Amino acid sequence: SRTHLVTGAASGIGKATVERLRAAGHRVIGADLKGADICADLATAEGRAELVERVAELTGGRLDAVIACAGLSQFSPLTVRVNCFGAFATLTGLRPLLAAGTDPRAVVISSVASVHPADQAIVDAVLSGDEDAAVAAAQAAADRGEGHVIYGSSKQAVARWLRRTAVGEEWAGAGIPLNAIAPGTIVTPMTQPMLDDPEMRKVVDASVPMPLHGHATPEQVAPLLEWLTSPANTHVTGQVVFIDGGADAVLRGDGA
Ligand code: NAD
Repeated sequence: SRTHLVTGAASGIGKATVERLRAAGHRVIGADLKGADICADLATAEGRAELVERVAELTGGRLDAVIACAGLSQFSPLTVRVNCFGAFATLTGLRPLLAAGTDPRAVVISSVASVHPADQAIVDAVLSGDEDAAVAAAQAAADRGEGHVIYGSSKQAVARWLRRTAVGEEWAGAGIPLNAIAPGTIVTPMTQPMLDDPEMRKVVDASVPMPLHGHATPEQVAPLLEWLTSPANTHVTGQVVFIDGGADAVLRGDGA
């Protein structure tokens, strides 16, 4: 049995993943704003530090897998704080614990929205590691009435950070696969309100076309997170694995 840390554990994809891993006999520590083993706000430096401290206490400093699911899709700078800097702090903060674990693995959640047109000022600021600048760029987008680009921009930055980071000394060099998944439309508390509104549902389905099986459940995403963080994954790293019913292939074509 392995020890996993899952953020965003109280809802949606994170919750389904916790349930699946526990059913398979693994120890899982869940983190979220509330309703989890560790309650910490990943939008803040204090919450990020608290997460790492508490996980170290609960595990004695050894962890086998990290799954960073916590995220939100508000048209506000908070989305960049949590989706990017909260996720990066989770992964880099817990990396030393992974390095002490057995067959350590990590995954972060990007999105098919990462291939939508992004605000490059947000993406560049995130990739430069400047949270204040990224928040200012997101606020500027919101002030221009373009708050809808913040989410995709945050997820594009996650995907690009992942590819850079995964092949470095601290991850590949330390024997730790680090990947992202990019879900299409998954029916969770994040998306349910939009899907319940017929007009919004049309907008969602036009921007994330899913010719294979349509919308997915969080239970259909959990097995991929389980496999990517299992010892069976020896050589998949630095990948953004789309679990999107074909949306990326529709949106980006054949990749030429
Ligand atoms: P969800 O809203 O059901 O769950 C997200 C969880 O993250 C919530 O429990 C929430 O409390 C937690 N969270 C939010 N802000 C936090 C903070 N500051 N500190 C700690 N925890 C915080 O959403 P979901 O659909 O399960 O989404 C999980 C991940 O998958 C997110 O990163 C989301 O962007 C991504 N994603 C979802 C979809 C989808 O269609 N649902 C598609 C692509 C990517």
